[in-house]
Amino acid sequence: MKKQKPRAPKTTARSLPRGLAMLQDPRLNKGMAFTERERDKFGLRGLMPPSLLTQKQQAERVLENFRRLPSDLEKFINLAALHDRNEALFFRVLSEHPDEMTPIVYTPTVGLACQKFGHIYQRPRGMFVSIRDRGRIAKVLRNWPHRKAGIIVVTDGERILGLGDLGANGMGIPVGKLALYTACAGVHPDLCLPVTLDVGTENEMLRADPYYVGIRQKRVRGKAYDDFIEEFITAARRVFPGVVIQFEDFANTNAFRLLRRYRNRICTFNDDIQGTAGVALAGIYSALRITGGKLADQKLLFFGAGEAATGICDLVVSAMVSQGLTEADARRRCWLVDTQGLVVKSRTKLAEHKLPYAHDHPFVPDFLSAIQTLKPTAIIGVAAVGGTFTRKVLETMARINERPIVFALSNPTSKAECTAEEAYRWTGGRAIFACGSPFDPVTIDGKTYVPRQGNNSYVFPGVGLGAIASGARHITDEMFSSAAHALARQVTEADLAQGSIYPALTRIREVSAHIATAVAEVAYKRKLASARKPLDVLGHVTSQMYDPHYRDFA
Ligand code: NAD
Repeated sequence: MKKQKPRAPKTTARSLPRGLAMLQDPRLNKGMAFTERERDKFGLRGLMPPSLLTQKQQAERVLENFRRLPSDLEKFINLAALHDRNEALFFRVLSEHPDEMTPIVYTPTVGLACQKFGHIYQRPRGMFVSIRDRGRIAKVLRNWPHRKAGIIVVTDGERILGLGDLGANGMGIPVGKLALYTACAGVHPDLCLPVTLDVGTENEMLRADPYYVGIRQKRVRGKAYDDFIEEFITAARRVFPGVVIQFEDFANTNAFRLLRRYRNRICTFNDDIQGTAGVALAGIYSALRITGGKLADQKLLFFGAGEAATGICDLVVSAMVSQGLTEADARRRCWLVDTQGLVVKSRTKLAEHKLPYAHDHPFVPDFLSAIQTLKPTAIIGVAAVGGTFTRKVLETMARINERPIVFALSNPTSKAECTAEEAYRWTGGRAIFACGSPFDPVTIDGKTYVPRQGNNSYVFPGVGLGAIASGARHITDEMFSSAAHALARQVTEADLAQGSIYPALTRIREVSAHIATAVAEVAYKRKLASARKPLDVLGHVTSQMYDPHYRDFA
């Protein structure tokens, strides 16, 4: 058994650069916060103004400038430049202002940044591995400046958020996601490796764009694609032993296939499928604290039948089975509606991932009729079609249930199935509501409800940290169930009283530490850990977390 997880390399005072080289290294740069002693020791005098600022003052200045910028894209560019210039300051402002900054660094603004990637491109970040690197991928990966990587987030750019095929422009996604691993869970930035696999793009506009950053050809598919992925996975594990590989924003069919192929071979997960499932299951556990119901008694009806929906179904089934239901009975508690109507056994040509939820039941053509027929306790919207939880849908749910569970998870806001206000208003304030996009608090009849986002960033950073800290060999459903329980436990009675079924995002580092602990505990219990179990798992996990406050170099 190995003793410890991969740690970020240590810098000793003797190995530190001097002068401009120090100021230009984002991992070391403290700008005007270098102390008098440091300025003497590292030859910085004259290279910066004489006055001193604290990191707190610098963070305030960043915020002041950030808030003055007229558009989200400019805010994105501003933060990316800070990331390139001063890593600790970037992560400090990001972790101290998650509500304000996460929507810029990640969805929804990152989507726009990906669309314009070649036009706003300033400095490289992460690694681009293209189909032309076949046969030499390990060699390419060895160009990465760090010898260790704890986690790779990899995309092939084919389904970037709800924006479709953005090819190599998809790089914004792994970069943004890994920034959240660090800001939300303290995964050390040196352990984070963003990767974009460029196999071409079907996006003709991009191929014709002179500033497009990727290769100008149609996507490689079939065996050549699979062989390329296989070579990448093998090379990544050879060059960075023990690395966690998180798949992100692959198109539907590849996402399911690749997860099935690799989940029991390597340490991997797909956040669109499993991370979403973890956060949704946590929301259900919190909702059950309000209703007093049992998971095994719930009936879930999904509007949408893609990665998010079937990912949630799979995890709910696994959690129900662990509570004593048979797999068949658990599946009968999860129902899908797709573009054609209710997914039932008699339908032909159903995609493979829907088959476990194609029940023996008469066909029902639309969502409202499905609610009336099935009488679900929860409806979960993940079809990316706005406004589908109509007044009639919500009133029907409120007639069937004392406290209907209503999750409108589709992004961005224009795709939300209903607004928070609609959910509360049309259920007489009885809905237990979560959303995919942020909504402001709503006051109805003098009572204020505070809806919170079922945001994946509650779960994936902690899962990654837990997997790294324990040296997990695989990431299992049990780990996601356990993460969901841990997240639900972080919801306070005060949160629940105001209708919030997730904790405040401002507590994210603390929440992630608990999730990482839950994940690591499963790894130890199931003998999936390659690191030795410490006496105090939470203490160990917390001690691994990157601290964005400046270090003293002198
Ligand atoms: P996907 O493309 O895999 O699945 C979309 C599904 O919706 C497909 O099954 C499709 O058939 C179905 N659909 C499309 N139009 C429909 C219609 N008119 N009626 C019924 N069904 C229809 O996408 P996904 O990854 O599952 O994501 C779906 C949505 O969920 C997106 O908006 C995404 O942003 C959101 N999402 C939110 C969270 C979160 O809030 N935590 C996490 C993941 C995904």
